[in-house]
Amino acid sequence: MHRLEGALRSYAWGSRTAIAELRGLPVPTAHPEAELWLGAHPADPARVVTDEGERSLLDLVRSEPERQLGRRSVDTFGERLPFLLKLLAAEEPLSLQAHPSADQAREGFARENELGIALGSSIRNYKDDSHKPELVVALSRFDALAGFRDPKRTVELLDAIAVPELQPYAGLIAGQPDSDGLRALFTTWITLPQPVLSALMPRVLDGCVDYLSGSKDGEFVAEIRTALELSEVYPGDAGVLAALLLNRVTLEPGQGLYLAAGNLHAYLHGMAVEIMANSDNVLRGGLTPKHVDVPELLRVLDFDSVDIPVLEAEELPGSAEFMYVSPAPEFCLTRIDLSSNGRAEHRFRTEGPHILLCTAGSVHLRCGSQSLDVEQGSAVWIAAEDPEVSVTATSERAQLFSARVGAPIA
Ligand SMILES: [Zn+2]
Repeated sequence: MHRLEGALRSYAWGSRTAIAELRGLPVPTAHPEAELWLGAHPADPARVVTDEGERSLLDLVRSEPERQLGRRSVDTFGERLPFLLKLLAAEEPLSLQAHPSADQAREGFARENELGIALGSSIRNYKDDSHKPELVVALSRFDALAGFRDPKRTVELLDAIAVPELQPYAGLIAGQPDSDGLRALFTTWITLPQPVLSALMPRVLDGCVDYLSGSKDGEFVAEIRTALELSEVYPGDAGVLAALLLNRVTLEPGQGLYLAAGNLHAYLHGMAVEIMANSDNVLRGGLTPKHVDVPELLRVLDFDSVDIPVLEAEELPGSAEFMYVSPAPEFCLTRIDLSSNGRAEHRFRTEGPHILLCTAGSVHLRCGSQSLDVEQGSAVWIAAEDPEVSVTATSERAQLFSARVGAPIA
């Protein structure tokens, strides 16, 4: 068991207060803080704090994979930590994106290697050969766009914007309200010639403003307000139109969202814990200054409309632990809620690697002869070989997230 220092990533969409406040550090920060990476991704591994000093978690895992990861994880995923845990704070919207399936990632990674595109190149899509299923759990109210809305509803939304110039486009899905119609409309919008886009966008935005001034409690207020907000951050970006096709989701603290391969999504605002397969494979379609590759995005996108289910954690009987059930084999995320007047202690045995992240209050950890006091915003690495761990709340309430390798639930 070691204290784990995350790798802080600064992106323009990050927050100058959220992550620092959680960690009890001064605000506002000099740079926007977007993500704290808690894992062993080669691009930015976290660091374990040992008696001999700090050490990269990536080095530690590579130097003794079986002791750190355990036999089962090594047999299944090789000598690397299969998941990446993140703390994420979005002040502004992130890019419109999707992630490849396992087959697409292997194929795309090999293809870009053959083309001789350097791994660090800004035009590189596939940074590794892994898929990237991801699960996000809100710490604050968290807004996102995720998955294509039922096209029949989208026709109603486009009709509500009531702009004649939109009608030919609405006709593409009105006449074919299925995945083929969505593919046709999305592809048309995301590849509109600049003069056409420049003429269309202001008309659509005027229609959005009219809708909001006309019907403050209309059924599409949240969707249309989001389109206007996106157009302020990314003026003239075709991703604003594409956003009109997606489900708008608001998570309350504790609720989760699982994003499978091919699901088009954009996180809009809020703070969250996020876990994913240990991959950095992102295909972007807009709403970003980063590399956008529309043809490659179109190859991986799933155009079936979905009602994205908001994921509620399931209580594990007789414990303080709640599980976010997802199909990804690389990870399993649970939440541990402790309180001094309820369940104040939680015990578990590791069968593989664990990362604990304290998101509220403080706890005392015991593991064999070791003990650690852990405050809100701090994380701990627990190796597969470590003995039983006990977690005791040292504040009135304490909350932790526990990340481990996905396992068949016993
Ligand atoms: Zn994503």
